[in-house]
Amino acid sequence: MQGLHHDMIPPASPVIGDEEIEAAVRVLRDGRVVQGPEVAAFEEEFAEVTGGRECVAVNSGTSALHLALLALGIGPGDEVVVPSFSFAATANAVRLAGAEPVFAEIDPDTFCLDPEAAASAIGPRTAALLPVHLYGHPAAMDALVPLAERHGLAIVEDACQAHGAALHDKPVGSFGAAACFSFYPTKNMHSLEGGMIAVADGRQARTLRLLRNQGMEQRYVNEIVGANMRMTDVAAAVGRVQLRRLPDATEARRANAMALDGALHALPTPKVAPGARHVYHQYTVRVPGGAAVRDELARELAARGVGSAVYYPTPIHRLKPYESCGAQLPLTDLACDEVLSLPVHPALSVCDIARITEVVNGSATAVLAGAMATPGTSTTTAAPVAPTEGPGVAEVPS
Ligand SMILES: *Cc1c(COP(=O)(O)O)cnc(C)c1O
Repeated sequence: MQGLHHDMIPPASPVIGDEEIEAAVRVLRDGRVVQGPEVAAFEEEFAEVTGGRECVAVNSGTSALHLALLALGIGPGDEVVVPSFSFAATANAVRLAGAEPVFAEIDPDTFCLDPEAAASAIGPRTAALLPVHLYGHPAAMDALVPLAERHGLAIVEDACQAHGAALHDKPVGSFGAAACFSFYPTKNMHSLEGGMIAVADGRQARTLRLLRNQGMEQRYVNEIVGANMRMTDVAAAVGRVQLRRLPDATEARRANAMALDGALHALPTPKVAPGARHVYHQYTVRVPGGAAVRDELARELAARGVGSAVYYPTPIHRLKPYESCGAQLPLTDLACDEVLSLPVHPALSVCDIARITEVVNGSATAVLAGAMATPGTSTTTAAPVAPTEGPGVAEVPS
């Protein structure tokens, strides 16, 4: 293993600044620490991101997806159409709700659920579509919403990577019956850990409030079976600070992406669908030639001080809990072998961008030329890429 560059540009750089720390301390001194005034204020303020929908805060994006499905009455006997090219949480939430995920292909340009593939996956048991706004690119809601309407299906948006993204000026989170956001530290905004559900129908908001808190509105008057998925006020206070940072942080991500688009010439840069506002949770390129070539490039970049990451090396339908489904998804398999996410986060300087483009152009040209000279490289299996997460992030879920 080559040593990492002494001055590595990380692929993600979560912000926990003085304002976040002061907000957390203020809550700790106040003493109302669980689902109190900060959570209520965060829910109200976050509604703006979703075009004014009613929002319910929970302890993670996974909990948000799980409870959204439960609130819509989706459970045993139901199928939910999901992309396999996503974080496992997307499918896990379906299973946790007692339903079965049915995996459908992606559009290879946007990496999001392909509406035609979703249509083919619909059967008599289908209850919902669960598109993912992957990498911060909005899914093709202009086709998925009418598809769901024709078949009488609910839509749950997985917007865990897409705070502030939009399609034809309509924000993600405002298309489905419910939409779910994550506030994990590496996401576009965070609350340490946390999640939010935006709902179209206020009655579902009440159900969600019951589900997250043991089925109680009034203490010890349990109306339904619920869990404990409450958000803390420390998390909400941090989330409110991050929400205020979101517009500038998003513009910085978009400006960084534009700079990378303009300067990267050795690899195909990310495509954006017409009318899509991409918020670049990830800036993801394709490395032609397969996983071994891609992983070699990632190691080369790391040796030269540029962090990168693979989201996701294995499609969900090939992970152990799901492999028995036997789905055949060649476009998804190919994406898993080719994708590489480069740093695009708001903490990058102009110098960082220049270094990233110079190193990526140079290394990609060399690695791709080498792969062409030694046919067969693309089918060999390389050692996994060392994780290069930002500070304070223990795991790599996104
Ligand atoms: C991060 C993420 C989740 C889960 O959110 P957590 O807050 O980590 O539970 C779900 N779906 C996608 C696409 C994600 O990126």
